[in-house]
Amino acid sequence: MTRPVRVRYAPSPTGFPHVGNIRTALFNWLFARHSGGSFIVRIEDTDVARSVEGAVEAILNGLRWLKLDWDEGPEVGGQFGPYFQSQRLHLYQEAAERLVAQGYAYHCYCSPQRLEEMRAEQAKRKQPPGYDRRCRELTQAERLQKEVEGIVPVVRFRTPLTGETRFNDLIRGEVAFDHATIDDFVLLKSDGYPTYHLANVVDDHFMEISHVLRAEEWLSSTPRHLLMYQAFGYEPPLFAHLPMILGPDRSKLSKRHGAVSITEYYQQGYLPEAMANYLALLGWSLDDKTEIFTREELVKHFSIARISKTAAIFNIEKLSWLNGLYIRKLTPDEFFAAAEPYLMMYQAAGEALLSDEAYVRIVLPLVQERARTLADVAELIRFFFTERLEYDSSLLTGKDMTREVVRNALEMVRQKLAAMEKFDSEMLETVIRPLAETLGLKTSHFFGALRVATTGRTAAPPLFQTMAVLGKERCLKRIEAALAKL
Ligand code: GLU
Repeated sequence: MTRPVRVRYAPSPTGFPHVGNIRTALFNWLFARHSGGSFIVRIEDTDVARSVEGAVEAILNGLRWLKLDWDEGPEVGGQFGPYFQSQRLHLYQEAAERLVAQGYAYHCYCSPQRLEEMRAEQAKRKQPPGYDRRCRELTQAERLQKEVEGIVPVVRFRTPLTGETRFNDLIRGEVAFDHATIDDFVLLKSDGYPTYHLANVVDDHFMEISHVLRAEEWLSSTPRHLLMYQAFGYEPPLFAHLPMILGPDRSKLSKRHGAVSITEYYQQGYLPEAMANYLALLGWSLDDKTEIFTREELVKHFSIARISKTAAIFNIEKLSWLNGLYIRKLTPDEFFAAAEPYLMMYQAAGEALLSDEAYVRIVLPLVQERARTLADVAELIRFFFTERLEYDSSLLTGKDMTREVVRNALEMVRQKLAAMEKFDSEMLETVIRPLAETLGLKTSHFFGALRVATTGRTAAPPLFQTMAVLGKERCLKRIEAALAKL
């Protein structure tokens, strides 16, 4: 039976969403949009102790930033709500009691202390950890006794002791888990809160989820979930476990690989379109060579069949490269609008990078080619705004010229510039380029000295365009300052 495609992104607000997490969101969204199905956001907030203040907002903002709109979930509602698990506790409690009544689950009265001792003992004997099933076969009288003592039980699943669960993962193919390796896991805690397993299965059923696309780390939970579906008599969804994401050194992805929370990518000046394009390639490909995809192309081509089994490598260099490409594709207006919030931050910190908007608009196109992130922009344009350039005078001479030679050259440029009326880049080129020969200098050496004198750096946008934008007065002042340094 084919059901309508309904997929969900089910984050736990235990931290700010990281790369892997948001890739899961993207793949679910792409699959939903590709199939004309629904994309649902469900907040799995039943682990009260590990909840992080502000995480839900960060998650939703991350989705909005990447333009992953959701059809049902927080803020938008929907007919299968509420979409916060903390508001659905009664459903889980009923479900757990139903399993207990039918013998698929049981009450366990073991104290945390006893479980602690049990675990220590298992560790000592080098036995695999897991509940030893002490309460699995309690008699009615024994249970009553515990209740009389006032012990509030947890509910545990009665995992079959033998046999196995097999299923066909849409990415990994057939997967089998021996029941002997699965303990009697907790469904409902003594405080009435469900565990991830219970809430996840109950919600996926009641929300009519058709496909579960989630990170590979959940693969080993799936047999438990399938056993629960069977016990409940529910039809399970199809499963697709997304490949892990590793650092370039193939170790667990971490901050040191440049993997940060989605909020930080915004702060570092990545464009959402570039980010989404990059994330899409973490485990999915169209043909192993195409790397640039518009949103529409991603939606059009996305398929679970093209998701790889092997781990994806997160490479921040590649993301930055891709981001640079997207920055270059912006129109001048778009680039200004994208860079503005970043320049604003510097402006707010007392650095006047935005005071003269018309000037900024002229400056920006000169650095658009070179910016790999929007946060780079301030650094790239700063020299257009500072009154006094700070640089070491040895940069003027480089390795190949004496101070004398450079002083001479800059003095000649100064005189030429002072006499110029029209001050655009073509005119500058016409006037200045021939001087190299007059001075008997290699063009690269001569231009190098002039670049340092006018920009304070050895690498900058094209020299004559830069000088034209700086204007005659600034150029002269800077050359005079350079002469003084020599
Ligand atoms: N709440 C889980 C997470 O944070 C959801 C896992 C799943 O999709 O089943 O990843």
